Amino acid sequence: MSQDDFDQLCAYARETAILQSIAELLGWDERTKMPPAAGDFRAEQMTYLSSLVHRRQTDPKVGDWLDKLAASDLASDPHSDAGATIRQMRREYDKLKKLPQSLVEELTRASVLGQQAWVEARKNDDFATFAPILERIVELKRRQADAIGFTECPYDALLDDFEPGETTSNVARILEGLRSELVPLVAAIADSARKPDLEILKRRYAIDKQEAFGKQAAAAIGFDFNRGRLDVTHHPFCAGMGPNDCRLTTRYDERFFPSGFFSILHEAGHGIYDQGLRADQYGLPPGTFVSLGIHESQSRMWENMVGRSQPFWRHFFPQAQQVFPDALRGTTLEEFCFAANDVRPSLIRVEADEATYNLHIIIRFELEQALINDGLAIKDLPSAWNEKYREYLGITPPSDADGVLQDVHWSAALIGYFPTYALGNLYAAQFYAQAARDVGPFDDHFERGEFSSLLGWLREKIHRQGQCYAARELVENVTGSPLSHDALIAYLREKYTGYYGIS
Ligand code: ZN
Repeated sequence: MSQDDFDQLCAYARETAILQSIAELLGWDERTKMPPAAGDFRAEQMTYLSSLVHRRQTDPKVGDWLDKLAASDLASDPHSDAGATIRQMRREYDKLKKLPQSLVEELTRASVLGQQAWVEARKNDDFATFAPILERIVELKRRQADAIGFTECPYDALLDDFEPGETTSNVARILEGLRSELVPLVAAIADSARKPDLEILKRRYAIDKQEAFGKQAAAAIGFDFNRGRLDVTHHPFCAGMGPNDCRLTTRYDERFFPSGFFSILHEAGHGIYDQGLRADQYGLPPGTFVSLGIHESQSRMWENMVGRSQPFWRHFFPQAQQVFPDALRGTTLEEFCFAANDVRPSLIRVEADEATYNLHIIIRFELEQALINDGLAIKDLPSAWNEKYREYLGITPPSDADGVLQDVHWSAALIGYFPTYALGNLYAAQFYAQAARDVGPFDDHFERGEFSSLLGWLREKIHRQGQCYAARELVENVTGSPLSHDALIAYLREKYTGYYGIS
């Protein structure tokens, strides 16, 4: 009976998801509350759980169930809940089975050692001592790609871990289109005589008030604090760990308002997606997010398209003036919004604005391909990095610490991850334009503090779809066209034409 097999498969997958959620909770605790000396034991706990999860995911009985279900009626519609469950679990099972256990363990070890070495190397601005470790990681990632297999290039196999079903050539084509329009746009903004007064954002914003104000805004756009919470960490993140438990974190800078506030909106955007997944499908593909790029589209949309817009601030600015009277007295809404939308080429990705951010990502994406597909030597990586920063952003990193060593990703063996940040911006713009056509325009709604029209659209079109469609199909279904750079460029152009007077 195929229904019995299917029910057993689902019950088994849910149990695995429960183990994963426990690991997620331990990870959250590690980054927020854990006493410093507990690190070694926590690593032991998490390694134990992850090996348990891996063993369950690759258990031959999963393969048996999937074999039996392959020809059943349940699998006939690949986009139904059952069909998507069978399709996605088959995909995951086959992929995990191809990775030798020894390679998985070597990658885990290399990533732990890599991150430790990276912290030191960045602190000492010393790429040379980090180079052999990175070389080892790149070699292991090439072996991973070979084990999994690929059609066009090894990078495809790595990209698939983060953006399933996407290909290097398609992403390269879209990002090349974006780059060719973004470089002159950023240059025109840099040449504009109009500049915002950034001092507005650097006045004193008391941290307890920032927290209350940020939470109020996150709740207003749709994050449910009855099913989630907000804590403080050095690097903001969102951890979903079950249908009614979503943890956000942020950081505050008393002397820089955007740091805390826009991180809260960003992470709340991730959290709203998690909270919109179908609880009855928890642990199964229809109740799981599609891809990192789609996840990032939700955070970027709420942070940037909504949270940095004038209609949003027409609602929130009077409140902000009451909460921070000393900082904002005498400042106009327009001055505040211009400062919050400042664009300028900078060295550090995580501090970059909405426009130049994409160029930071394109640089990393191109270098990752060169490392994995084209054999770029590690010793040549810093100069290749600096060359691209000069070409795309017009700046030269003064040191490797603020250049090639600035991100943790490569040291953690996360190669293929970076492009999902730019994909997130691209998806966000294309979804947002479609939402505005379907249920907008949103200006009046936001100005009244109403975000439910956009939220309801996202719930129906994206959150409740889970993995029933791959990211690429989802974009086409929802917007009627494949992903392109057009919507993002149109959105950025319109915004910056207003602020910077460029044509
Ligand atoms: Zn994010």
